[in-house]
Amino acid sequence: MEPHVTLPLSDGDDVFLAEWSQPFALPPFSKINVDAFMSAFLKAMENHRQEIEAIAVDANPATFVNTLLALEKAGRMLSKVSAVFFNLTGAHTNDALQKVERAVGPLLSDHYNSIMLDERLYMRVAAFKASQEASLLEGQGKRLLDKTFDQFRRAGAGCSVPDKQRLAAIGRRLSELGTLFSQQVLRDESREALLLKNESDAEGLPGFAVDAAKAAAKERNLQGFGAITLARSSADTFLTFSTRRDLREIVWRAWNARGDNNDENDTKAIIKETLMLRAEKARLLGFESFAHFKLANAMAQKPETALNLLQQVWPLALARANEEAAALQLLSDDPLKPWDWRFYAQKRRQMLHNLDEAVLKPYFTLDAMILAAFQTASRLFGLRFEEKHGLDVYHADVRVWEVFDQNSKSIALFLGDYFARPSKRGGAWMSAFRGQNRLAEDARPIIVNVMNFSKSDPALLSFDDARTLFHEFGHALHGMLSDVDYPSLAGTNVARDFVELPSQLYEHWLEQPDILQDFARHYQTGEALSKEVIENLRAASSYNQGFATVEYTSCALLDLELHLMPDSSGLDVDRFEHDALTRLNMPSVIPMRHRLPHFTHVFSGDGYASGYYSYLWSETLDADAFEAFEESGDVFDADTAQKLKEFVYAAGDTRRPADAYMAFRGRLPSSDALLRKRGLL
Ligand SMILES: [Zn+2]
Repeated sequence: MEPHVTLPLSDGDDVFLAEWSQPFALPPFSKINVDAFMSAFLKAMENHRQEIEAIAVDANPATFVNTLLALEKAGRMLSKVSAVFFNLTGAHTNDALQKVERAVGPLLSDHYNSIMLDERLYMRVAAFKASQEASLLEGQGKRLLDKTFDQFRRAGAGCSVPDKQRLAAIGRRLSELGTLFSQQVLRDESREALLLKNESDAEGLPGFAVDAAKAAAKERNLQGFGAITLARSSADTFLTFSTRRDLREIVWRAWNARGDNNDENDTKAIIKETLMLRAEKARLLGFESFAHFKLANAMAQKPETALNLLQQVWPLALARANEEAAALQLLSDDPLKPWDWRFYAQKRRQMLHNLDEAVLKPYFTLDAMILAAFQTASRLFGLRFEEKHGLDVYHADVRVWEVFDQNSKSIALFLGDYFARPSKRGGAWMSAFRGQNRLAEDARPIIVNVMNFSKSDPALLSFDDARTLFHEFGHALHGMLSDVDYPSLAGTNVARDFVELPSQLYEHWLEQPDILQDFARHYQTGEALSKEVIENLRAASSYNQGFATVEYTSCALLDLELHLMPDSSGLDVDRFEHDALTRLNMPSVIPMRHRLPHFTHVFSGDGYASGYYSYLWSETLDADAFEAFEESGDVFDADTAQKLKEFVYAAGDTRRPADAYMAFRGRLPSSDALLRKRGLL
């Protein structure tokens, strides 16, 4: 431990020392000065170091209170600074924040590594684990002990001194590489893929897409009719609707090559170095591969178990995708190419299910879909949402709701940040400004959902967008309903292959006729979707699932394969990708959903590294869990909802995931419900 040092003061960093006086102790965003972040981080880390030092040198025998609880309580200021900072760098960044991000990443990595590799601390946790007091622990206390001890072991506590130093250096470098990867991909995605010169370049695009293209050009000060960017929403919409095959090819090629242009934003060298370091880290910790290391504390526990699920699904998905390709080919005189799939799939979907995205969109306003997600939470869990105005938030587009439980007790604050802007990273996510726990005076969770919907008046969503909204709101509920004692066990701090259960399960309620009839209403006429369209929407949910399963599962398989490699020093990323897909008989007309050079899930940090399979794993859980409601005869069945809340949404990581699922469902799931849901059986 370093001795106490006095750090230089910088204007504004005291914002983080003060108690926040906004309702809910929401961060006072307008008072936060970007230049103060670095000094706030340094102070908060020093503060945390001192708290940790006090635990490490305590002369008393290790107890639950002076060791585990003290560790849980330490670092509160650092959590505050980090939560604000990393939410901003994701949702509303700028050059100054990015500069701090690059500098602070390695410092934080060092900071946490030095704690996890502090032998004195580890010895105290180990001593407590061996104590009489620990042997009597049960419930959350026992779970916290097991989890904490495992975290120390996984970080390298108990390794030799040189190995620990090497692990620290690896951690630091991996953190730098993750930041570089995401920043380079973000830069690549904010480029324009295509400038639309005139109206004929926009042929086939529905009104909302034309508006979005015009706005994108204006935002970038580009002359011309509009611009298609490399953000998923922009490129995907163009590929779905543009009748200009020549332009679709241009957009598709640019989109597919993100991070793979052998220019300053190329990520292949980052990928290779990342994989080598991850493999080395796993070896030092005594694991066969990084995948073995990563899955040891997941619900799957072993790479073989995860691979087994993917390999069970793969041939069924491939067969369905090939049938789909043959059906699409019938619609075109040209041989089907990757830039044709979305276009003809949309046409065929319209023919089969009479669902035209452009006709549907006016029925899905953002405001109504937010209310639909709230109403679902109200019927399942008795929640009520009250919009709050006039709070100090980080962008004018951010909306805030206070959340009340069935006894009208205020339990959380929910922030919704729905619109795309250049300062926001792509995709959709849930995050927390503060997680739930019972250690602090007011530790009601502050949860945010961040989306990238196109802004228009009114904002209209595709059915997929609405699904994304429900998905992220499911994560948000996991954070808001959390009802546990300790921060480490709260909310979404669960195994990676369990964390998508609450979110993917929630998507099922969007498809319910009750919800659609009430909330999917035409924004001009107020007319509800007809029963026929609703039935079609439900039937269409298994449409194109061969494509969707193949584009996803290929990514999950390659992710595991890459991380099972003991040595990747000779890796050629493009060649590996090509060979692996050939071995899988990947159809040439279906690209991976995320090619390796822009696979941010896996390379922007190690969160989903050898964990991309988790989505499908979770889907076996969500498909099976929703069948519990269907079996009861009521998709809002109160008893089932009560169990779901108790053992899943409110339970955090207080039980092993398999035990939590058993408690809810009475048995473990098989993959049958998943295959039924995707229409692959
Ligand atoms: Zn998710």
